[in-house]
Amino acid sequence: MNIKKLEHFLAENGQLKFRVRQIRQAIYQEGVSSFAEISTLSKELREQLEKELKVLSFDVEKILFSKDKKSAKALLKLSDGNLIETVLISPLEDSWSVCVSSQVGCPLGCEFCSTGKMGFIRNLNAEEITDQVLFWIQKLKTKNQKLSTIVYMGMGEPFLNWEEVSRSLRDLVDPKLFGFGARSLSVSTAGIPAGIEKMAREFPQVNLALSLHFGTDEKRSAVMPINRQNNLEAIREALKKYFELSNRKVFLEYVMLAGINDSQKDAEDLAKFVKSIGKLQLLHINLIRYNSTDTKFQPSSKEHTLQFKNYLLDQNLSVTIRKSLGEEIQGACGQLAGKA
Ligand code: SF4
Repeated sequence: MNIKKLEHFLAENGQLKFRVRQIRQAIYQEGVSSFAEISTLSKELREQLEKELKVLSFDVEKILFSKDKKSAKALLKLSDGNLIETVLISPLEDSWSVCVSSQVGCPLGCEFCSTGKMGFIRNLNAEEITDQVLFWIQKLKTKNQKLSTIVYMGMGEPFLNWEEVSRSLRDLVDPKLFGFGARSLSVSTAGIPAGIEKMAREFPQVNLALSLHFGTDEKRSAVMPINRQNNLEAIREALKKYFELSNRKVFLEYVMLAGINDSQKDAEDLAKFVKSIGKLQLLHINLIRYNSTDTKFQPSSKEHTLQFKNYLLDQNLSVTIRKSLGEEIQGACGQLAGKA
């Protein structure tokens, strides 16, 4: 919701400031989905608001739920007709996490990613980003459940839209609006060193995830074109700086691609690179099962993934195999393509 527009509208219509507080409380804390539901307002004001303003900046085209009801994906139509997707998952009982998009499409073109295949269309503004969260808050309210965490891991590279992403982070931690703790937010990047540093300076408590996926420049550049400008050395230096500024744990994401990055040699290369960063107590590797999409890549077998993990554990690295939710609804990492 565009809170500035709301404030302006209320001021222009001679409403007192406490009205803004009432509406903020109803929308952000109580999760009402329309002004008509805010019973503390007069009927006349509710009707005026319904006519002039929208709670969400997009229309909901479609929502898909997985059979086990532990994940859902929504296709959203923005005011200019572009489509984005957002995903809700429940990684633990009674715990819900939202994955938000920060761009329509993505300019980075990682070969294993459906979003990358779309190309870049435009950046989302802060309102379009936080409205994805608001939308799921409204849905969870009907189940009497609350949102625990938010990850910027949907469509787009957040650090290529830092101005709007940072505004959205500010709104999410603002106690007058969403009021989330900074530590319940995570931003995931494919490796933009300047963005990593900016986030460490501006939001040292927000979690950083880095989509690493390869331990050598040769392999990484072949599948992730961003590595040709920002190679592993640049990432290493950016992470060292990040640790200096924030001293927070970083999550290294490693998607397991059959025959591409899942051999013993790949595990050795990854271990070598991770050790070269230093501060191993602050680095955690998440091995992620790849979700088959419309690309040529296939997921590694469970056995291969386990062997890979065991080698990293033998190297005294912190590693887990992350359960991938949302595959059935194509809502998992790399599967968002604005076409639900
Ligand atoms: S994996 Fe992330 S950075 Fe790469 S193309 Fe997809 S959305 Fe963009």
